[in-house]
Amino acid sequence: MVGLGSSHPELVRRYNALVAACWTHGYEVWISSSSRSRATQEDLYRRWLAGTYRVPSVANPNGDHGPSPWGWRWKGSYHMPQQDGFSHALDMGWRGCTPAEFEQLCNQVGLQRTVPKENWHYQWVNRQVIFPAPGLTAPPPPIPVAPITSEEDDMKGMQIIGDDGGVFAFFPGGVVINMGGKPQLHVGMNASGVAPVVLTGMPAGELADFAAQWQASV
Ligand SMILES: [Zn+2]
Repeated sequence: MVGLGSSHPELVRRYNALVAACWTHGYEVWISSSSRSRATQEDLYRRWLAGTYRVPSVANPNGDHGPSPWGWRWKGSYHMPQQDGFSHALDMGWRGCTPAEFEQLCNQVGLQRTVPKENWHYQWVNRQVIFPAPGLTAPPPPIPVAPITSEEDDMKGMQIIGDDGGVFAFFPGGVVINMGGKPQLHVGMNASGVAPVVLTGMPAGELADFAAQWQASV
């Protein structure tokens, strides 16, 4: 389908900003695929394996891509509604500009390509990273938290996006902080508040500075 009814509200907000930006530049943009049912994804995957659906890649509908920024796990395609009830990818077409010009506008509103060789596939969030949106001036509205429906409920939490684009997700067991494109900061919470900070994927010096800075701010 090409409607936005099952797309995540922040993805919709970013797409709407993209439409406005495209019109400003005199470009056309449209959606060629948004949300897919499991049955549709299974059909695409079967045809892709058989060589009759010729695109660079199709996600296995049963794939497990690990934890999302909200704690629940990504399953199958980002075009399939996930455990929060929303899909998180759009395939788009455009006219009046080059692919590079289109990509530049997308990046400004926080949509990024995530599949090699598919210059039409965009997401607002990757496995663990919510993409920064430098061209969006208004702060995003609060993102709804899905109703509790699974055994992974204890991993669900609240998310806040800061003015600087940093994402703070609070879970009962701790806090995950994602400073835009930077590596994740995992903070364990104890009864009195803040417990040791664990950072991964960052040079040691930068890591210590960042941790100290964060500790000082809480
Ligand atoms: Zn796609």
